[in-house]
Amino acid sequence: MKKKFYITTAIAYLNGNPHMGHALEIIQADCLARFYRLFGEDVIFQTGSDEHGVKIYTAAKNNNMEVKEFIEKYYQAFIKLYNKLNISYDRFCRTTSEIHENAVKKFWIKMKQNGDLEKSEYSGLYCIGCESFKVSNELENGVCPFHPNRELIEVREENYFFKLSRYKEKLLKIYENDEIQIIPSRRKSEIIGILNSQLEDVSFSRLKSKMPWGIPVPDDDEHVIYVWADALANYITNVGYESNMEEFNQIWPADIHLIGKDITKFHAIYWPAMLLSAKIPLFKKLFVHGFVTIEGAKIGKSLGNIIDPFYFIDLYGVDTFRFYMLKNIPSYDDGAFIENDLITVHNENLANDLGNLVLRVYSFIERDFNGKIPPIKAIKPEDEELIKNFHFEKELREYIDSFQINKALNRVWDFIKFINKYINEMKPWELLKSGQIDRYSTIVNILTQAIRTVAIYISPFMPNSSREILEMIGAPNFNTFNDIKFEENINWNIGKRKILFKKIEKIQTNQLQLFDFKVGKVINVEYHPSSSEIYLLTIDLGNNYKTICAKIAKYYKPQDLLNKTFVVLSNIKSREIKGVLSEGMLLGNIDPKSQTLKIAEIKGNPGEQIYIGDLEPIKSEVSAKQVDKLKIKVYDKKIKIQDKFLKTKTDFATIDLPDGIQLS
Ligand SMILES: [Zn+2]
Repeated sequence: MKKKFYITTAIAYLNGNPHMGHALEIIQADCLARFYRLFGEDVIFQTGSDEHGVKIYTAAKNNNMEVKEFIEKYYQAFIKLYNKLNISYDRFCRTTSEIHENAVKKFWIKMKQNGDLEKSEYSGLYCIGCESFKVSNELENGVCPFHPNRELIEVREENYFFKLSRYKEKLLKIYENDEIQIIPSRRKSEIIGILNSQLEDVSFSRLKSKMPWGIPVPDDDEHVIYVWADALANYITNVGYESNMEEFNQIWPADIHLIGKDITKFHAIYWPAMLLSAKIPLFKKLFVHGFVTIEGAKIGKSLGNIIDPFYFIDLYGVDTFRFYMLKNIPSYDDGAFIENDLITVHNENLANDLGNLVLRVYSFIERDFNGKIPPIKAIKPEDEELIKNFHFEKELREYIDSFQINKALNRVWDFIKFINKYINEMKPWELLKSGQIDRYSTIVNILTQAIRTVAIYISPFMPNSSREILEMIGAPNFNTFNDIKFEENINWNIGKRKILFKKIEKIQTNQLQLFDFKVGKVINVEYHPSSSEIYLLTIDLGNNYKTICAKIAKYYKPQDLLNKTFVVLSNIKSREIKGVLSEGMLLGNIDPKSQTLKIAEIKGNPGEQIYIGDLEPIKSEVSAKQVDKLKIKVYDKKIKIQDKFLKTKTDFATIDLPDGIQLS
């Protein structure tokens, strides 16, 4: 019987649409799962959704939606993303499912029976962004470092407390002995640091009267279980814990929990302590990935700088997207998402290195051998050299076991480059001309087998392209790395010709000409009919008026805005905001010091043209997504887009924000 190999992702919190960070984690996990299947393990790959907690509860209320309806909307969005990304998960845990809720209650009772859950009075600062209490040394400048734009809430109530402090020594020993391995190791050092500094008991319940959206505490109607205690349990509840213990004992412990660096503490401290308390074996490895950034800012929901993964997948194709994320975002560090880099790796690595190789060999077979792979006649040492290079499974296993996906990918690419070198040295196209048919036949055969080997190796990164390559060369499918072999006799016929990766043109600077900025004068301010946070601004643009919905009522009184002139993006597609069409956009952002919103201003007459550097705008309409992709930054109180300043013929646009802040 094959060995079970259980790998999980963190479960997605359903209070918004998926962003790049979610895409990165699920692609990494899928790649790992596919590798372990190739290694011959019996893989169980689980992901899921975290569907309780304050954030969801309040967000649903703010959107005038039933909580269930709200959750369902985002659940569907995540499923859509996972389908688009070709994610091969085997199980999906929803924390509102009956199987999960029942098992969480039983898990709770086990911890309680062990004396680890007790009621006591508590007051503290709570970050809704993290869904956790914050002690003073976790704050930076009085705010949560992960959610600097959110206010901390003072909570004072009677809660059940989990006696985390009891587990301090045990946890330290666990990490000393690498009973749980944390990769990268600097994350382990951080955890040991936290364990050594202070380990207070944690509030593990919330008052139902304040926050009803959670799993009820067994035998206590007044409390619901803390969302993290509920969510972490998904790793056991959905694989049989307390519902099918035979299955559970086969699957558990998890071999890998893959998570983001912002939730290491929950997974490396709370979770093992909970398992110890309930006398459940510990998981084996914690892989901690970094953040996807745009120029240093984390891509998350709270900061509002979301970049939509769907957009890039649809534009460039799923395998290019997967390849780029796995290659250019280092597995356990932060990495910047840069669209032009994606285009570069697509053109160089996929279209040139891989696509051309496949197409060249395909063409030899199609043109000179009637579509049938020609036989081997005699093998020379230089051929043996290539055949020997088919095998580097062990190296890949080492990279994957230590969560270095990008290194595994680069190792596969070394092989592809080696094949390209072989083809350039053998010059098969000349052999035909000089009548060396036997040699030509042998080389084409070996190349075809090398390409099949490539198809197997790239399958964890790009499953679709792998399959397409196999179809093109008519090679048999594969299950594991044991199927990598060189055969003396193969009997394959090529399939349909296909361009695997078409070259993509780089984004040119003159794309900036699409954006039409104008001086706009505010001539009327009133509240949005259904929101006291949003103003409806009537903007004079010289020869016409536009309405802009601006969520700035918290920061400005109407008289502060009236008759002022601002930078207005005048050709953005109109968007409906709570029933009112917004026909333009202002530029601004929060001042990190004063926490107030600043808006870009400019002197001039209503309707006067604002230029990006010296570029003349061209007639067009731009989407919000195109605007999101613009890098609009503050520089010396002026505004820079890429390397060009925003200005009229006579004046610069200005904003009272520190350098480097991105405007949107
Ligand atoms: Zn936070």
